[in-house]
Amino acid sequence: MTLPAWPKASQAIGCTLLAMGLGALGLAAWRAGHPPLPAEYATLRAVMGRLAQHNSLGQNPIGFSINNGSYAASLAQMRGFCKEENCDFYAQLDPYKNYSKDWDEISRQSYTLGDVEGWSTANGSIEIPRAAFRIYGRRSGWLACTVAHEIAHIQRHHLFTASYYANNTIRSASAPKQEQLNYVKSRQQELEADRDAAVIMARAGYGGRICLDALIFAHKSSGDGSATEPKSTHPGYDDRIKAITKFYAHLEKHPPAKTSGTLGQFHYSPADNLLSFTPSQN
Ligand SMILES: [Zn+2]
Repeated sequence: MTLPAWPKASQAIGCTLLAMGLGALGLAAWRAGHPPLPAEYATLRAVMGRLAQHNSLGQNPIGFSINNGSYAASLAQMRGFCKEENCDFYAQLDPYKNYSKDWDEISRQSYTLGDVEGWSTANGSIEIPRAAFRIYGRRSGWLACTVAHEIAHIQRHHLFTASYYANNTIRSASAPKQEQLNYVKSRQQELEADRDAAVIMARAGYGGRICLDALIFAHKSSGDGSATEPKSTHPGYDDRIKAITKFYAHLEKHPPAKTSGTLGQFHYSPADNLLSFTPSQN
């Protein structure tokens, strides 16, 4: 018996639709597990992957969050949203999120007018403003220097050691002396992070005096020609450039020994606005 043609065609279409449906379901499930990575996070993942491949970074996860940056805090203050000391909330807003309020305009203006900078927390999170990626452009090596500098702060527990120094080591000094010494300590830690960054970058195969170039670029980009003052948290331009130049001269004569890399996995969560690098357990 010959079957009419239409059921076959219908079956074929049904199968095709089923396959397409399964395909779409599979794609949706895959996307849920692998949400699309914004271009800036993709750059960050590539940079961190290279640094980790050639450096021993320990067992603790390192988190990356791209935020609005400190210009957003100034904008929020101008807008009357906060008093000067309480505006960090706006610096840390998620630039990829639509808040459906004035905060979105703060994000937009921060992206246009913000600059290169980076922060780290004691617990291993690194924050970089979205504007930095626009300004660094294709020069991801300079971004890598910023990341390496923040990794150095984390690995050396600089926030803890500064707190310990302030609360224990210099406890018996007079209050003005303590204040002065805390600023000196902060500037020493910045130079230490600069030196570590140069080593981390050299191990990862970035040639030349790339972190010197990155520092000059960052100061010019943000219009920062500061001098070292008693209350400077960071050394001024001349002192910082002089110190890293001297260290590169040393590094070129004594290249760092190779170390084993850090195997690990990346996970991106748009809801948390966080890219996590989790080292594998040995
Ligand atoms: Zn620093």
